Amino acid sequence: MTSPIESLFDASLVAAQQPNWPDRTKLESAAKELRALPPLVFAGECDNLKAKVAQAARGEAFWLQGGDCAETFVGATADSIRNRIKTILQMAAVLQYGASMPVIKVGRMAGQFAKPRSNDIEKRGDVSLPAYRGDAVNDLKFTEQARTPDPSRLVKVYNTSSATLNLVRAFTQGGFADLRLVHEWNKGFVKDSNAGAKYEALAKEIGRALDFMRSAGINPEEFKTVDFYSSHEALILEYEKALTRIDSRTGLPYDVSAHFIWIGERTRQLDGAHIDFAKKVKNPIGVKLGPKTTIDETLKLMEVLNPDEEPGRLTFITRMGAKNIRAVLPPLVDAVKKSGRSVLWVCDPMHGNTYESPTGFKTRSFDEVLDEVKGFFEVHLAKGTHPGGIHIELTGDDVTECVGGAAEISHDDLATRYETACDPRLNHTQSLELAFLVAEMLRDNK
Ligand code: PEP
Ligand code: MN
Repeated sequence: MTSPIESLFDASLVAAQQPNWPDRTKLESAAKELRALPPLVFAGECDNLKAKVAQAARGEAFWLQGGDCAETFVGATADSIRNRIKTILQMAAVLQYGASMPVIKVGRMAGQFAKPRSNDIEKRGDVSLPAYRGDAVNDLKFTEQARTPDPSRLVKVYNTSSATLNLVRAFTQGGFADLRLVHEWNKGFVKDSNAGAKYEALAKEIGRALDFMRSAGINPEEFKTVDFYSSHEALILEYEKALTRIDSRTGLPYDVSAHFIWIGERTRQLDGAHIDFAKKVKNPIGVKLGPKTTIDETLKLMEVLNPDEEPGRLTFITRMGAKNIRAVLPPLVDAVKKSGRSVLWVCDPMHGNTYESPTGFKTRSFDEVLDEVKGFFEVHLAKGTHPGGIHIELTGDDVTECVGGAAEISHDDLATRYETACDPRLNHTQSLELAFLVAEMLRDNK
């Protein structure tokens, strides 16, 4: 039986990148269980975030979104969650200073458990099994049982997201996120790591600004707590639909699995089920745009997803690759400008820069990541549009998944601590380095 929410969505449309669930009855019973559970976020919080996106789209705020490529159930530990939040807060403090603007802090967290894959099947030697599609679907272990999609995992996604969000809220509201404490961590990074030394001057400037405010007796509430939002790719439509609720204030549907959801590069077909889903929920939403994106698609996405031109509704997350960004982004920015519509432009410098190292690891180079951000800034500066934010795959731990950075991680070093379940992430140090470098770009562009 279709629920009233299900009937909002067009069931005849093709949904790309869905698992081959072997047991539809089990899938329906997982969806039923999810439909009865309380929301993970409130619609009012989604609206608050939308207002902030609108502010960023006007050039008055900067967006920072970061976290794992793929969250895992075993990775949802207190230490790992704390380290990720800490890294994002540290980055945000530096970016805020560089931009002299509020930074909107968004985790790829508390729901980022499902992955699109280029191939349905993974082959190792003579054995072919379904590809790993994230903990929401199956297990990374290469056995038939582990790789068989299991719908009960969707309920575990909800529970793990709920526990993660609980800790996120505790950390960001309970004093842990105080701007002065975050600055102390940044001072530690500058003092204790080779990577940090280069940024001593900027860290000192921030310290002096904080000292100045302290000396003036300024101790605002805003320093003590932060707004931190959750986000993930809306990929498994059974999950997202089951967590779509009618908001009692407005009578409108919201996907209450996260504050912000985005549609990936592989599922953004204009006539597909993902865009139909995104069109019908009222959250602020994002769409990834890869190097082959056409002007026509870009314009249609804006018309379809934001017909009423609601401020803050739509974010374009470009992931062009360092080599392409300077050529591919300008015509798209021109077309959007000419249309008179407003979007927030965010740079994902990760997904266009993935390659396989000679040592056999999926990796990215810090320099290319940085170069894509630079290209993004150059284009927006030349066009008079706002380079509105960055979207980063990162972890708070000292992994070795991306090469380069001041610690000069090499292809041979990748094996030391390569832990990601999917794409390579910047580690804690590389993330902070990137934040300092982007802060310098923001400051120089003012
Ligand atoms: C991702 O963000 O992990 C991802 C798969 O991105 P894209 O859709 O841009 O490839
Ligand atoms: Mn990824």
